Amino acid sequence: MKAWKAGGLAIVIALSGVGGTAAAGAAPGAARAPGPAQQAVAVGSGGAVASDNVQATRAGIEVLGHGGNAVDAAVAVAATLGVTDPFVAGIGGGGFLTYYDARTRQVYTIDGRETTPASAGPSLFIDPATGQPLAFPVAVTSGLSVGVPGTLMTWQQALRHWGTISLAAALRPAERVARHGFPVTDTFREQVRENAFRFDQIAPTSALFLPGGQLPAAGSVFRNPDLAATYAELGREGVADFYGGALGASVVNAVRHLPLAPGATLVPRPGLMRLSDLAAYTAPRQAPTHVTYQGLDVYGMAPPSSGGITVGESLNILSNFDLRHMTTVQALHHYLEATRLAFADRNRYIGDPSQVPVPERQLLSAGFGRQRACLINPAKAATSPVPPGDPFAGPGGCVPARPALTGQPSDGASTNNLVVADRWGDVVSYTTTIEELGGNGVVVPGRGFLLNNELTDFDFVPIQAGVPDPNLPAAGKRPRSSMAPTIVLRDGRPFLAVGSPGGASIITTVLQILLDRLDFGMTLPQAIAAPRASQRNGATTQAEPDFIALPAAPGLQALGQVFAVADTSPLNPSIIIPPTIGAANGLEFLGRGRVLAAAEPVRRGGGDAAVVSPRS
Ligand code: GLU
Repeated sequence: MKAWKAGGLAIVIALSGVGGTAAAGAAPGAARAPGPAQQAVAVGSGGAVASDNVQATRAGIEVLGHGGNAVDAAVAVAATLGVTDPFVAGIGGGGFLTYYDARTRQVYTIDGRETTPASAGPSLFIDPATGQPLAFPVAVTSGLSVGVPGTLMTWQQALRHWGTISLAAALRPAERVARHGFPVTDTFREQVRENAFRFDQIAPTSALFLPGGQLPAAGSVFRNPDLAATYAELGREGVADFYGGALGASVVNAVRHLPLAPGATLVPRPGLMRLSDLAAYTAPRQAPTHVTYQGLDVYGMAPPSSGGITVGESLNILSNFDLRHMTTVQALHHYLEATRLAFADRNRYIGDPSQVPVPERQLLSAGFGRQRACLINPAKAATSPVPPGDPFAGPGGCVPARPALTGQPSDGASTNNLVVADRWGDVVSYTTTIEELGGNGVVVPGRGFLLNNELTDFDFVPIQAGVPDPNLPAAGKRPRSSMAPTIVLRDGRPFLAVGSPGGASIITTVLQILLDRLDFGMTLPQAIAAPRASQRNGATTQAEPDFIALPAAPGLQALGQVFAVADTSPLNPSIIIPPTIGAANGLEFLGRGRVLAAAEPVRRGGGDAAVVSPRS
């Protein structure tokens, strides 16, 4: 098969909107109407959207243009991404939504994380035949990994609390794209390529994404009539159809009886989900995390995501230094050392707060930030794994309080983040996911969407014997996430909204964008494009080739920073993947109602940014 073409994927996409017979999959050569071209940056007023692709962004602009608010548009964008970005997110998955409400001038969040079925327990990922943990790829492509999806309930809750339109209306643009089709991009085709070895094991997945046993051709029109019908059904029946009704029953059936293709070699490990698990699902509103940095208020996602706390703790650590007046080498060294320390604390203390105590207030205290900051040696990188600190000791001393955890949790690498603002000043930053690229690989038969493998975000066994692990599987528990949809206020008004995919590297990506924008003099589009490195208390720092090529890299290496490029699939090491970190989207509020929308320009084919009224 064709190898990935790294970088430079500047794709000008023609928008769909053609009629014709709805047949699933890609139809080569079908005519299509020209549409707006993909653009990475837009400036203007009246509302703004940045997301992973042009159809999704334009769905949001359409809703905003018809008088909808940011929440209405965010649901329309997310639902469209479920069609055009099906390997990354959709109603088979979950996510976390942060929302700034201009009327109350408060930030709110919704926890739409997937949940473990009631009949599952700590041995969820232990092979009964051997007593050993399942291999990660075996656990992913199974029914066991599927958490009760939270995305639809998140949409419902967001619309109910803050929206102005019905779920049916919010789903309509997405239904149209699913029915009429959209042009297959190089990225879409690439994402099928990376999954073909397992998609061809699952009958409805290979029928949808590998029509005739082939990768969909770039430029052909891809239609998903099953998903269009599913959205239409949800519009008529409401989310009860999923959370206990007929649609939910088809999800449960697919989880418990994996629809294998004839001749499949996959050994199916069925899941434990029941309709009662779906009926019991909730997507609660909860308070955001909060820290101040450079006089700004930074709001993020609280547990079960570790995103808000770990970004916040890192900022608190870095508040003890003046990055603006350091050399680039020293500033980047401090960035890497701060996340090295913060990830030690994340891995030791953060899990689902409904089941384990999470010392959120202590981890986010300025005193704890000082305790951790004094461990940074400007002359030498620390040796990972560094031990977690003691969040109950306040500023404490410079002595690490705990033994280091030797194991490393495993995390996926794909999802998406969308950002929306409306003319009233409301703002949404929303990260949605099905975990691995392609989720668990199972398209629900007749329904047109993939299921998540979010439960593999749990540690399968304690990452170190004898040390409590807050992220072990349990009935009704939500696995720890790294998703970090972030909203930054200046003097109580929106200043930035940002978020990214990338598993645990979401945290470092969001932090790096904030530092690039706030300390290193970059514009938001520059910060979103900048080369990345992600240190997560590992012996090596994951880095993009462009980061290793920076003039500062030799100086960092001289301080003991060791960089490694990750370019193979976590599900199949023989498959080469793009060595990129994150694909962020963000907004910056320029004052007087003007907004700069910035999408990722290159990674994963680039995203799309648009405003309702472009600057003349
Ligand atoms: N499962 C990941 C998390 O919740 C997100 C998926 C990804 O970005 O790879 O942190």
